[in-house]
Amino acid sequence: MKQEITRFAPSPTGHLHLGGARTALFAWLHAKASNGKFLIRFEDTDKERSKDEYVKSILSSLLWLGIEPDEPPIFQSKKEAIHQKAALQLLKSGLAYSCDCSPEQLKNMREEQIKNKIQPKYDGFNRNNNLPHKQGNVIRFKMPQTGTTSFEDKILGSISVQNKELDDFIILRSDDSPTYNFCAALDDIDMNISTVIRGDDHITNTLKQINILNALNEAIPNYAHLPMVLSSDGKRLSKRDGAKDINDYKTRGYLKEALINYLIKLGWTYKEQEIFSLRELIEFFSISDVNSAAAKFSQELLDFYNNHYLNSCSIDFLLELLNKDFNLSAEFNDLPRRKEILELMREGANTIDELKENINFFHENPNLTSQLFEGIELEKEIFIKLNKDLENLDFTEKNKIDTFLKNFLELNNLKFPQLGKPLRIILTGKSDAPSISDLLYLIGRDACLERIQKFINIY
Ligand code: GLU
Repeated sequence: MKQEITRFAPSPTGHLHLGGARTALFAWLHAKASNGKFLIRFEDTDKERSKDEYVKSILSSLLWLGIEPDEPPIFQSKKEAIHQKAALQLLKSGLAYSCDCSPEQLKNMREEQIKNKIQPKYDGFNRNNNLPHKQGNVIRFKMPQTGTTSFEDKILGSISVQNKELDDFIILRSDDSPTYNFCAALDDIDMNISTVIRGDDHITNTLKQINILNALNEAIPNYAHLPMVLSSDGKRLSKRDGAKDINDYKTRGYLKEALINYLIKLGWTYKEQEIFSLRELIEFFSISDVNSAAAKFSQELLDFYNNHYLNSCSIDFLLELLNKDFNLSAEFNDLPRRKEILELMREGANTIDELKENINFFHENPNLTSQLFEGIELEKEIFIKLNKDLENLDFTEKNKIDTFLKNFLELNNLKFPQLGKPLRIILTGKSDAPSISDLLYLIGRDACLERIQKFINIY
């Protein structure tokens, strides 16, 4: 297989979010699957909106995910002089022209076209006027007026448009700044990109860029347009349903392995397999297997993956992560059974944030309110007896605790819920916590006695 060179070309006008991360991952995998190269190009020509802060944030999100470029990133703004020169060259060779149409003239043109039910576009007013290029004019590309522009998309198949539908778009603005479509076409060639992988919102741009490359007699790269990611209800993805930036997922405690597995599922499947390592992805991934229909965001699937990885990593790793990035309290770290607690509690957690929240009661006495006990039968006497007996219990082994509980119920003629329901609340402040013997064992004798005593004092 030919070694592929791909690129991810974000505009640094915001953080990296899910859709962008998916594009980067697919481009990275396509390169890696052929032992090729993955490059990053920051399209930072919009001087007002491009920020260094976003460059850093996008890079750190990509690095966190393990999507590393094989060469230092390219900054499009640094190539402005080259792009300007290329535009002037096209002008000189008659493949582009100078245009002095005023904004008002363009507005009228547009209104007139809409009125006549014609697709609005620049009507070529200056195309044959041979205006000498001067400051304040723009340079427009001479789009072929007949025939079609077509390409074979690696994902979407054949795409074709009548050239008369494309307009003579601007390649150099009146302030001499080159436009996106012109820069992107030139840079893809300059960077030797073999396959351009990007969102399908760029299809019209691709058709324009192909014409630029044809005019320059350059080879046309392959193109693969990724269908959109829609929200779970089929609408455009919004912040609420997944358009959050990758840093958000990181700070909420999603593991990178879960995100990678999730991102790849947004458009790609391999047999019945659900869980993939990066190495497996590199081995199995093929861009032509990407689904041509839009992918749908699913919080449940993302949580499923995160829960899977939270439960497959080592407890030492989890503890280290909780301490390093999630400010785990010193009190929790002091608990002798902290690792066993994590082992038990991670089963029910979708994120590290949630896990951290769920383990609070092990080191913090719960705040007991009467509401918590609503509808629950309470016999104070039982708890007085329980506390006395617990004092003599050996807490070091869970099976001893199990036997104790069984005997205690029998001896006092109790059904399990009569003890279990209130005791769970007393120990944790919650009604849906782990089993009573797990709780007694993991919370430990002193804290259990203290919590039960506190309850006896209040009620
Ligand atoms: N800079 C463009 C964007 O962020 C990407 C363009 C491309 O991949 O060619 O949408």
